[in-house]
This record gives sequence, structure tokens and C-alpha cells, in this order.
Amino acid sequence: MDLKQYITIVQDWPKPGIQFKDITTLMDNGDAYRYATDQIVEYAKEKHIDLVVGPEARGFIIGCPVAYSLGVGFAPVRKEGKLPRETIKVQYGLEYGKDVLTIHKDAIKPGQRVLITDDLLATGGTIEATIKLVEELGGIVAGIAFLIELSYLDGREKLEKYDILTLMEY
Ligand code: AMP
Repeated sequence: MDLKQYITIVQDWPKPGIQFKDITTLMDNGDAYRYATDQIVEYAKEKHIDLVVGPEARGFIIGCPVAYSLGVGFAPVRKEGKLPRETIKVQYGLEYGKDVLTIHKDAIKPGQRVLITDDLLATGGTIEATIKLVEELGGIVAGIAFLIELSYLDGREKLEKYDILTLMEY
């Protein structure tokens, strides 16, 4: 299946010069969403995943159906102040300023093999921060899966120590 036909490119959104890759037109097509999910599930099976971890909110959209299909858990990574119990946090750089991501301290057991999921690899900053959280809790990042990679940015270089699956490249 050619998944790219289900991605809508929105010019100059959210600001001039950005070509936004809208995945909602893939998600609202049942066949395409299932096909994309199944590709990631096959990859995850080879990696013997114990747990899926994804950053809010699109990391959930990709990761939760994969976790369900594998029969493993899903642990959310969220912005500061959203998770109700004890968390660890990491600060990471954005284009303008900084942001903080958190995960529950007991979300990962040391030695668990983790698949990280998100919709799109751009600069890799979000996933680099997510990796720090997983590794601080003793998790092993066994793979990282995205629907889309923007290969004109240097995200993959930032994550070169890790095994990455991307289903579409721009
Ligand atoms: P990054 O940390 O730079 O790899 O990107 C963080 C997140 O921003 C990605 O997971 C996407 O959800 C979103 N994002 C960045 N660039 C785009 C784009 N061109 N189209 C759609 N989403 C984007």
C-alpha cells in the first residue's frame, strides 16, 4: 500500500515555510491506519518488545494500537504537570525556547525492551528526550518507529545509536 497518498501536505502551517504533514487523513482511513500499524507490529515482533512508549499526543495514536496488537503495555510520555503520580523529567530544546517531558517513575522496569513510537521524525529532539527518560528508568530502547521521516533534517544522525523504522520519507 502506498501510504503517502493518505498524508495531506498543508503548506505554510502552523507558520510560513513549514510543510505540515497531516496524518489525520491516514488515521481516518481504516485500511491505511491498520496497514501502517501492522508494519510497525511486524518490526516490533522482531525486536521482542516488552513495552511501547510514546510522547503525547501523536505518539499515542501510533503506539497504542501497536501495544494492543502485541499484547504489551503502553506508557505515556507527557508534558510537565499532566501525569498524576511521581515522575522523572527531561528538558529539551525547541525551535524557540525549551520544553519539559515527563514519565511516571514506575512506568518501566529495568531491563524491559522498549519500542518508542511517534508520528514524525523531524529534528529528533522530542525522541531524544523520550530516550533519556526510558534509559534513566533502566529501559532498553530496542527500536523506534515513525510513520514519517523528514530526511532533509538531521534527526536520524541524532539517533544514530538506535534502530529506526520509518514507513515514509520526504
Ligand atoms: P522533532 O522533535 O523536531 O523531531 O519533531 C517533533 C514533532 O513535531 C513531531 O513528532 C511531529 O509531531 C511534529 N512535527 C515537526 N515537523 C512537522 C511537520 N513538518 N509536519 C507535521 N508534524 C511535524
